[in-house]
Amino acid sequence: MPRTLLGVAGFPVGHSRSPAMHNAALAELGLDWLYVPLPLPPERFAQTVRALPASGFRGVNVTVPHKEAAHELADELSTAAMAIGAANTLTFTDGRIVAENTDAGGFLDALGVDPRGLRVLVLGAGGSARAVVWALREAGADEVSVWNRTAERAAGLARELGVRHVERPEPVDLLVNCTSVGLDPSTSHEEALETLGLAGSEPPPTVADLVYGAGTTVIVEWAGRAGARVVEGLEVLVRQGARSLESWTGRASPMDAMRMAVQERS
Ligand code: NAP
Repeated sequence: MPRTLLGVAGFPVGHSRSPAMHNAALAELGLDWLYVPLPLPPERFAQTVRALPASGFRGVNVTVPHKEAAHELADELSTAAMAIGAANTLTFTDGRIVAENTDAGGFLDALGVDPRGLRVLVLGAGGSARAVVWALREAGADEVSVWNRTAERAAGLARELGVRHVERPEPVDLLVNCTSVGLDPSTSHEEALETLGLAGSEPPPTVADLVYGAGTTVIVEWAGRAGARVVEGLEVLVRQGARSLESWTGRASPMDAMRMAVQERS
């Protein structure tokens, strides 16, 4: 019997930690499945994904730049995928393509506290910011504000998702960095904090950073130094992956094996 396949479709996708993370999880679950990287240029995405079920694929994760295309291609959308306008998980079932956005729920899982009653500031207005803003609003955060370098994008996202946008970061209970700022070694920490309007300010009690990479990010260092509670990007990665895997296997994901696998790649 040929192996059941899973994968991650992106372009480029060679840097992705998802294959290591999911293959570790599959081994831990005792499933003889394989998770592979699928480098797909945008013009090949839809055609290739539609062919995957016949080649033994049960589902795929979808990453940059295909999350909107995955939403377009699906036969069925979860509530989150529909509201966010993007999908990061496709499941092939009974000849249909079902799309989900586990970035939203994965973020809340990683956050680990009930956001009800919290004032939150989300930095960024790209794909991950959309998922995080929607998740926090749905989970009942008291007030969600969005700040972005390009202010019109923050205003547009805020209008669409029914939250506030702000011209400069304001004091809150929870700050979430959904910009890609934080890892470029050619940018000093001072410059990075300045870019985000955070220079000279104290971090709030909880700070989450979606960015992850080989070292500690600027935001994690800034927050950690001041004693804030920190939620790191790798934990968000593990939690969104855990939700995707559960939808494909129907089994609880082995979180520790997944955490260990993503850290080994650091
Ligand atoms: P995206 O759609 O490309 O959005 C990028 C965002 O970063 C935009 O708001 C952009 O602002 C801002 N930005 C980029 N360079 C900037 C700079 N020099 N100064 C200020 N703002 C800047 O990206 P995304 O998909 O939302 O991802 C954002 C980050 O989160 C990436 O690093 C990604 O790897 C990470 N991520 C992690 C996870 C996880 O599971 N941990 C999941 C998703 C994403 P403008 O609008 O002004 O360009």
